[in-house]
Amino acid sequence: MTVQRIPRSHPRYRSLLVRADLAEKMAAGLVVPEGLMAHGRGEAFDYLLGEKTTPEAARAERAAAARLLLARRPALSVNGNVAALAAREVAALSKDLPRLTVEVNLFHRTPERARRVADTLRRAGVRRVLGERPTARLRGLASDRAWVDAQGILRADVVVVPLEDGDRAEALVRAGKFVIAIDLNPLSRTSRRAQLPIVDELTRALHNLGRGVRHMRDWPRPQILAVAHSVQAPELLGGYLRRIRVRLDRLAAPPSQPGPPRRGD
Ligand code: ATP
Ligand code: MG
Repeated sequence: MTVQRIPRSHPRYRSLLVRADLAEKMAAGLVVPEGLMAHGRGEAFDYLLGEKTTPEAARAERAAAARLLLARRPALSVNGNVAALAAREVAALSKDLPRLTVEVNLFHRTPERARRVADTLRRAGVRRVLGERPTARLRGLASDRAWVDAQGILRADVVVVPLEDGDRAEALVRAGKFVIAIDLNPLSRTSRRAQLPIVDELTRALHNLGRGVRHMRDWPRPQILAVAHSVQAPELLGGYLRRIRVRLDRLAAPPSQPGPPRRGD
């Protein structure tokens, strides 16, 4: 179904809209078919999490905003799905944090696709986009997945990787980066390898990162440091999984029975 033909009254209007939009962007060569599958997996986990930012994700996002403020060279990696779903949010974050390098980073790289992703970002308002013609390679990765920009991710100290492949996230950690993942799947290798796993939907997460940056921008450094260190990956991952378990237990519970009659009833 094309974007225009989705009935507004449909209970899952937004989800249908996003799917139709991704399908159109696949036809236009921005998104790859594998990206649609990744999106479906993300949606499934969003169902399990209640389709809203959990308290654990909110804490992770605040800590991530603090890490970005403290970073000397923060970078954000953008693939086809990220450009398709959240180019505006990426542009907004890059305005909130002008030092942030935005880099095109493709698992399925062709020069045309890299240009399409970069064009999408520029049209949304990102001033400087790196990674169209990357010159450096990350160690320990084969093929095109290793390419990075020497001015961007290669020299970054903190890297945000939304919807990233597990192998690359791991290679970035090995390269000594502080990796902040945004991925709805708390079981993915990306979430499990990142120093700071944000398990939340991409647009919500980027929005909250920007809000955190604006909120803490003028704070004294020790206070920002305290927020940056306020969460640990293992407890976050445990928290996300418990959140899903508790929610499923509650949904699975039989409807509450009327209690026994009390005296005086
Ligand atoms: P890994 O390689 O890390 O073990 P994977 O193979 O599931 O996991 P990919 O397919 O490479 O990972 O990456 C896509 C990931 O992005 C999926 O785990 C999916 O849950 C997540 N994802 C998809 N759409 C969104 C979205 N809109 N917001 C947040 N996460 C998303
Ligand atoms: Mg993968």
